[in-house]
Amino acid sequence: MSSHPILFDPQSPAGENRESVTGPKGATRGKATIGFVSLGCPKNLVDSERILTQLRVEGYDIVPTYDNADMVIVNTCGFIDSAVQESLDAIGEAIQENGKVLVTGCLGARDDEIREVHPNVLAITGPHAYEEVMSQVYTHLPKPEQIPFENLVPDTGVKLTPKHFAYLKISEGCNHRCTFCIIPSFRGDLVSRPIGNVLDEAKRLVNAGVKELLVISQDTSAYGVDVKHRTGFWDGRPVKTRMQELCEALGEMGVWVRLHYVYPYPSVDDIIPLMAEGKILPYLDIPFQHASKKILKLMKRPGSSERVLERIHKWRAICPDLVIRSTFIVGFPGETEEDFAELLDFLREAQLDRVGCFTYSPVEGAKANELPDPVPEAVKQERYERFMAVQQEISAAKLRARIGQEMLVLIDEVNPEGAVGRSYADAPEIDGLVYLSDETDVKPGDKVWVEIIHTDEYDLWGVRVPE
Ligand code: SF4
Repeated sequence: MSSHPILFDPQSPAGENRESVTGPKGATRGKATIGFVSLGCPKNLVDSERILTQLRVEGYDIVPTYDNADMVIVNTCGFIDSAVQESLDAIGEAIQENGKVLVTGCLGARDDEIREVHPNVLAITGPHAYEEVMSQVYTHLPKPEQIPFENLVPDTGVKLTPKHFAYLKISEGCNHRCTFCIIPSFRGDLVSRPIGNVLDEAKRLVNAGVKELLVISQDTSAYGVDVKHRTGFWDGRPVKTRMQELCEALGEMGVWVRLHYVYPYPSVDDIIPLMAEGKILPYLDIPFQHASKKILKLMKRPGSSERVLERIHKWRAICPDLVIRSTFIVGFPGETEEDFAELLDFLREAQLDRVGCFTYSPVEGAKANELPDPVPEAVKQERYERFMAVQQEISAAKLRARIGQEMLVLIDEVNPEGAVGRSYADAPEIDGLVYLSDETDVKPGDKVWVEIIHTDEYDLWGVRVPE
């Protein structure tokens, strides 16, 4: 079989291709397997990373060969003619080698063009359409067969030479019903893992060498709500099934603890002091999605924006190092220029550190599809660009302010040109990187002190300083 040069290989640190291993489709026993081809610019790569992360969270295995994949996703680029051709060729190769192909990305916005050449693709979605991609995956591939909650632990069990970061899933499902989202329709309502099991898994990972735990769920701040914050046991002592107690216990494990998908409920106020004390990383991933009250109501978002700005200021007063990352949707049905202006005002005031933005695209089966007043594609795109322009200035200024600071950096990768890592301010796969030119005397998983000497809108460059 052919080995396309960019079929994503999860085993390779840089995600590049490696020698093909042939075998029957779905060769990873009991798992649904997906091959992934990523084309185009860094923004597209970030989209790929988001989709890959979600696939991994859902329990799909990412495989580096067409033969072993139950399905292939091609994330395309449509920027210039040669990129279009490259994308069409990659789709053609995936169809020939595998047969079951989903197409996403920029060229996906021109589905007629794709169908003309490749009428047999299973489905086509546009750029930043994570949820739609996931919904197509669920449509065409059976859900992974596995024990609930076990899917984030490597198949091999805990390895002796583990990756230095690991995702820790604390619950499944969600009690909310955001109108653009179909996750609760197939994952069901919130089911929290027993706290003892979560902490056992965390400890196992730490003992095996993991240096950073990334807490994930659909709604991390709601952890334990379904079991009325029942008291469980861990390490011979009672521990409540609640975000606060979870963070306190994880904070004792001596590794970085990073919280994702936190909604701004009042309970979040209680974990900010843990961040200020250095128990867990001063980093919050809060998907705000919008700032206009009207749009948030149409989205049926949890944790309304009321007084959110006030609370962000309060959190920063307690923990000045706090980094907030978020995602937003522009062009949601009913979004007027006034709503959008409100969103930009929020951005300017909130001064968030890391922000992702997506243009709204309907997901099959989502309630939002029934809403009136869709925003024309051209307006969505124009708002996306204005949004990104405002945020890029904020991000660049925030990163510039780090020049001269010394930061602890966790090394992710070492290559002949130097090392690449991240500080507390950056989560793997979604945020920025710290580049250390010519620094080859370190290995993945090392933590080193670095003085920041240069930055751009996303990444930082630094030099190592003595401990
Ligand atoms: S909080 Fe909303 S967007 Fe997130 S999983 Fe639940 S319903 Fe979906």
